[in-house]
Order: sequence, then C-alpha cells, then structure tokens
Amino acid sequence: MNSYLLLGSNMHDPQQQVQLAVRELKMLPGVQLLAHSSLKRTAPYGEVDQADFYNQVLYIGHTMTPQALLEAILGIEDKMGRRRIQKWGPRIIDIDILLIQDMIIETKELQVPHYDLHNRAFALELMCEIAPEAWHPILHKTMRELRRGLSSCGGDQ
Ligand code: ATP
Ligand code: CA
Ligand code: CA
Repeated sequence: MNSYLLLGSNMHDPQQQVQLAVRELKMLPGVQLLAHSSLKRTAPYGEVDQADFYNQVLYIGHTMTPQALLEAILGIEDKMGRRRIQKWGPRIIDIDILLIQDMIIETKELQVPHYDLHNRAFALELMCEIAPEAWHPILHKTMRELRRGLSSCGGDQ
C-alpha cells in the first residue's frame, strides 16, 4: 500500500525533528521511502502567536493496514515527546496521513483523505512538488486542481 504523509514541527530545532521523524518512519517494518518533497518553512496554521513550522511530505510504501499505520505514527509522535496541549499549538512533531492510495476512510480515529487537505496551501504545495496528479477520491480533483482552486478563491498563498 502507498501513502502520503505530512510532517510538521515548530519546536526545538524543527528541521532536525522532521529529519528524526523521517528516520523513525523508515525504521518501521515494511516501510519504504519512495519520494519526498522539499522541507519547507511555513507560517503557522491556526494560532498565529507561535514559531514558523517546517513541513515535508513523504510518499511511502508499506505493508501496514491504515489503522496500523495511524498507530505507528501516533507511536512515533509519543516517542519524540509530542504533548497534546492546545489544538494547532506548537508541536515537536505532527504526522498526518494525507492520502492512502484512493481509499476513503471515515472512522472516528482516522479520516483519509485528511479532512482539511484541500484547504491547506502549504500541504497542497508540497504534494504538488512530488505528485501533482495525485487524486482526491472524495472531491474528484487532482492536487494541482485543488491548489489552483485555493489561490483563485483568495487562499492565503
Ligand atoms: P489537524 O488534524 O487539524 O491537522 P492536529 O494534527 O494537530 O490537527 P492531532 O492532535 O495531531 O491533530 O490529531 C488528533 C487525532 O486525529 C489523532 O489522534 C488521530 O486519531 C486523528 N486522525 C484522524 N485522521 C487522521 C489522519 N488522516 N492522520 C492523522 N491523524 C488522524
Ligand atoms: Ca496536523
Ligand atoms: Ca496530527
């Protein structure tokens, strides 16, 4: 199975935290790193009174089920010291599953595609670096089309 992940950090040398998370992901059994975007500095999403983020999109191959992949990424967040204090507040690492092939998953623990992917210019921009033609199976649009839609509606980037 193939998935796109979005990594983000804005605490304690965020560029290094993202690199550490990539290393942790590559160590998971059956995970292969197939492609990655650049590591890009982005303005905070949500609470503005916090440091800028560094974000990167990874394309991975894996043998885990979607639920097992979620558990593995939550495990990495915990291991790296993620504390959930404030929604969209500062975080040492955040790993979101953006897409899993063309699957649609809508359980309490996991929504795929990520519920807000189409609204986040920074996520679409990084997706477009490596997979402009990747398909959003609910909105029936490519990443390129979603990104274009954001800017023509006065999106923030
Ligand atoms: P946002 O989800 O708006 O980007 P966030 O990343 O800060 O905010 P978290 O506190 O990291 O939110 O995630 C809360 C929960 O979201 C996780 O425990 C997980 O169960 C759930 N979740 C649902 N869908 C996904 C997904 N596609 N990727 C990662 N987590 C998800
Ligand atoms: Ca997130
Ligand atoms: Ca998250």
